[in-house]
Amino acid sequence: MLEFIDEELNNLKQAGLYRKLKTIEKISGAKVTINGKEYLNFCSNNYLGLANHPKVIEKSIEIIKRFGFGAGASRLICGNTTIHELLEEKLANFKEREAAILFPTGYMANLGTITALVNENDTVIIDRLNHASIIDACKLSKAKLQVYPHLDMKALEKILQKSGKYKKRLIVTDHVFSMDGDIAPLEQIVKLSKKHQAITMIDDAHAVGLKVSAEVDIVMGTLSKALGSLGGFVCGSQELINYLRNKARSFIYTTALPMAACGAAIAALEVIESEPELIRNLRINLRFLGSETPIIPIIIGKADKAMEISQKLFDQGILVSAIRPPTVPKGQSRLRITVSAMHTKEDLTCLASLLQPLMPQSKYDIINQEGKK
Ligand code: PMP
Repeated sequence: MLEFIDEELNNLKQAGLYRKLKTIEKISGAKVTINGKEYLNFCSNNYLGLANHPKVIEKSIEIIKRFGFGAGASRLICGNTTIHELLEEKLANFKEREAAILFPTGYMANLGTITALVNENDTVIIDRLNHASIIDACKLSKAKLQVYPHLDMKALEKILQKSGKYKKRLIVTDHVFSMDGDIAPLEQIVKLSKKHQAITMIDDAHAVGLKVSAEVDIVMGTLSKALGSLGGFVCGSQELINYLRNKARSFIYTTALPMAACGAAIAALEVIESEPELIRNLRINLRFLGSETPIIPIIIGKADKAMEISQKLFDQGILVSAIRPPTVPKGQSRLRITVSAMHTKEDLTCLASLLQPLMPQSKYDIINQEGKK
């Protein structure tokens, strides 16, 4: 009965697509310990180091002492506390929207929101490289899924022109694309959406320090990356949030976030305000590498080659993940470098100097020529 599992696992192994876990024993800034050896970490989404910030740690401990750990029920039953509501208020302010709603993860925020907004009478229009949670949500919604080539606004317009027959048109895009690090042309998307009476939803998971215009209807985000905690959220009008509280199944039918996770995010938002040098340091690192965002992909092509380079870096004390299908399209396996405010210039130079000999044929020199001066 279960032979298919063995077969499929073997297929994955043969194609170089088998996934294995690395076990981290200790975390110290941008360094992690695995099997007793220290590695410089270039694959975390803890972009500002807030997961390990003393104020974030202190606040979550204080809240555990006050409330215990688990919320014990869903928000609508008896899992809703002052801490959840305070965080929602702070997130709404942070994203300059009327209101916010929390979900247990960003994945669940996308799932609950998209399925609450559209159904079989509607269409949902997405960029080809949107995050898996958006794609899964679209499929689950039963709305007609229409996909435009990455960043292709002409294709988006064509789809919109032909979508008049649907009751609602929802456009969803990553703001910063999770595997490519490039930025969606939000202004153009908003313009097209207005022209064709569509709703716009932006996934802001990787957008550190970037603004989203007030004209975007729905801003989704995560607490799990730059905010150093766990959880997802959606910001928008008070009406939208009331609607999601009533309709989003991944909000209604699941236990509320632990209060400590909310407290950690509250402290993280406060630290972002009181310590602007964190975002400044991240920006300095990005400039040094000539990147606009903290995600730097180096396309290798074949999955096993990407794995091999990642393993060679690992052997030299550097943690960079190889990203393979189905996370990225076939033939586009890559190294995905993520940069944080915690990395020093020495860390970045070390990564660049180890990468170069592994890819002598590559056109990539990750250090920006201007940054070098
Ligand atoms: N959207 C994007 C663009 C993401 O990269 C991720 C996480 N990989 C998510 C949503 C899901 O967020 P979370 O990890 O909080 O579930």
